[in-house]
Amino acid sequence: MAGIYIHIPFCKKRCIYCDFFSDIRMHLRKDYVDALCRELEMRYAELENAPVHTIYIGGGTPSQLSGEELARIFDALSLHLPLSACKEITLEANPDDLSADYITMLKHTPINRISMGIQSFDDDDLLFLNRRHTAAQAEEAFVRCREAGFGNISIDLIYGLPGQTIQGWQSNLGRAIALRPAHISAYSLIYEEGTALFRMLESGKVSECDDELSLDMFDCLIDTLEAAGYEHYEISNFALPGMYSQHNTSYWLDVPYLGLGPSAHSYDGKCRRWNVRDISRYINKISHGFNAYETEILDTNSRYNDMILTSLRTMWGLSLSRIEENFGRDMRQYCQALARPYIDTGKLVLSGDNLKLTRSGLFVSDSIMSDLMKVED
Ligand code: SF4
Repeated sequence: MAGIYIHIPFCKKRCIYCDFFSDIRMHLRKDYVDALCRELEMRYAELENAPVHTIYIGGGTPSQLSGEELARIFDALSLHLPLSACKEITLEANPDDLSADYITMLKHTPINRISMGIQSFDDDDLLFLNRRHTAAQAEEAFVRCREAGFGNISIDLIYGLPGQTIQGWQSNLGRAIALRPAHISAYSLIYEEGTALFRMLESGKVSECDDELSLDMFDCLIDTLEAAGYEHYEISNFALPGMYSQHNTSYWLDVPYLGLGPSAHSYDGKCRRWNVRDISRYINKISHGFNAYETEILDTNSRYNDMILTSLRTMWGLSLSRIEENFGRDMRQYCQALARPYIDTGKLVLSGDNLKLTRSGLFVSDSIMSDLMKVED
């Protein structure tokens, strides 16, 4: 089993918090799609004939691609794999791109899941974040997608914005639940270095939401969505029963994936690869038949640490048997010993053979995961 990630690195304008790789030079799209199809051709064999179950077209803003451009990508994919055998094919979309015509076009592609970057249902928040859409546009686009027959829609939300109150966040969640999306991802606002938001913080124009309020918002998120029937299956992800993101779940369950496009990462169980974060260099390299990636061969510690980082994030937890199978009995004992203080203080629970974060553990998940990792032999 394997997945394919396709990065579409174009945005009409940049949101102030975003550190994903994207570019506003839309005129590069044609050459870019050519290079993407060529990279697929050059690298598909890396998947070693594993059946591809999920494809995720992310960005950037994939909904900035035209129907012809999407068709070219799917034509290239279908030379290698039966798209009808893919369980999940997701397109990330900005709400204001989802016109009736665009959605009709999408219905004629193999895409069966839409991930909408809504971020907030408050127009002041959206303006502050430099999003292109309004809350009403997002709701209308969501309804249009559903009426067109897209039953599997995910929405993204951000909380912990400067000045946001718990009531404001609750109201956001209420509007999200009213739409009844199959899946909700909710992230606390991060001040990533290099972003406009980070510069605003540095110059004192905004201040971070305090830790206590941020934890209250996280608590409110979990309580509200669970009460509405959503399963909290990963730190930042919630789904109606069975409607997990299959693509993202395979990242957390150690399934190999091939990442195409600038900044895209790939993983095959033995090494990680990441493509150059520059569209022009990417196009230039690929069009001359050269790969655009760097490679890191994963040593035992890195593979063990990856397993901690990915598994513990999920409601399925970290399987101690898998640790033993992959790294030996000593590593299992090492992990168990480091987990013990967290089990004793109620932050981790051992359920059968799996270590899982409890609610109080979720709030300090980063430090627990980092404590369970192995730095050196
Ligand atoms: S959040 Fe999405 S739309 Fe905004 S700049 Fe980043 S990739 Fe582009």
